[in-house]
Amino acid sequence: MSKRDYYQILGVEKNASEAEIKKAFKRLAMKYHPDRNPGDKTAEEKFKEAKEAYDVLSDSQKRAAYDQFGHAGVDAGMGAGGGFHGGAGGFGDIFGDIFGDIFGGGRGESRTYRGADLRYQLELSLEEAVRGTTVKIRYPVTVACSRCEGSGARPGSSPTPCPTCGGQGQVRIQQGFFSVQQTCPRCHGRGQVITDPCSACHGEGRVQENKTLSVKVPAGVDEGDRIRLAGEGEAGEGGGPPGDLYVQIHVRPHPIFQRRDNDLYCEVPISFTTAALGGELEVPTLDGNVKLKIPPETQTGKQFRLRGKGVSPVRGGPTGDLICKVVLETPVNLNREQKELLREFERSMEKNASTHRPKTHSWLDGVKKFFEELTG
Ligand SMILES: [Zn+2]
Ligand SMILES: [Zn+2]
Repeated sequence: MSKRDYYQILGVEKNASEAEIKKAFKRLAMKYHPDRNPGDKTAEEKFKEAKEAYDVLSDSQKRAAYDQFGHAGVDAGMGAGGGFHGGAGGFGDIFGDIFGDIFGGGRGESRTYRGADLRYQLELSLEEAVRGTTVKIRYPVTVACSRCEGSGARPGSSPTPCPTCGGQGQVRIQQGFFSVQQTCPRCHGRGQVITDPCSACHGEGRVQENKTLSVKVPAGVDEGDRIRLAGEGEAGEGGGPPGDLYVQIHVRPHPIFQRRDNDLYCEVPISFTTAALGGELEVPTLDGNVKLKIPPETQTGKQFRLRGKGVSPVRGGPTGDLICKVVLETPVNLNREQKELLREFERSMEKNASTHRPKTHSWLDGVKKFFEELTG
């Protein structure tokens, strides 16, 4: 699914000011808000699209990421600066800010509430996270009731102003000298009650459903990254906008590779002979085997860097490396002849021990110095 440009959606220039972006969104929101266009799917889509564009362009960090990387920079819910944490409150704040004056629920008007955000834990293999994948997920979610279009009232009837609060949503209670304003206990602040409830949702306006979604996971995601699916959370109350779905990425441990940032690490066992004489090894990468040259006199623990064989980061930038650490393997299950060959080999080494064994030599020097300092 290719997405339209966010600036184009809002009809503003690339260098539009915050105020211009806010104004443009407000105009679209007034036009396409589900409350004003009940049952109109096109309007709903337009509203969602505008909301998503505004969500990104009104946040300087997200806007910068979008300007730089396009949709890929923001779809995964991340920014260059180490992740957005818009989180649950993110859009609610925007609504409070922009819609406070529209949906404030004045006298006799119905109140709307944005639906809750949801979180989905998605486990991926390292290969899937590195290459990207599309996953079908299924999760329980409340959606607007299709029979009453979310109103909760039986089709043909409509909610009536709450008799307890007179439609205000608030009641005043006398406590001693003071008069305290409280949310109406009967309509819970909605200002309306349903006298003839919809039979499908029993007046709730929302029903529980198992939703199946196809989630596109961009290549390069890592443990802890989040993908935000705007509007795929719980349905709003009273026809309010839905919450978002956050897909939280978890990467299963891999038997060979460990990932650190964009580099991959692995250990490669090498034989004593290859380490001493040099040779060529086949080492695995995520795109098949590659040859690794082992120079003569390689010590155990030496790391070889294979440039560009790591991970291409999801936010763009250079691909990481594969770092192979060679580990010298001690031969086991030796037969008599092999053991004898090794003993013979060892005897040949003794003649010039210090030239053959530089590490041992410098270690012994260190030990000697340590004792001299201790006793001297
Ligand atoms: Zn009431
Ligand atoms: Zn209903």
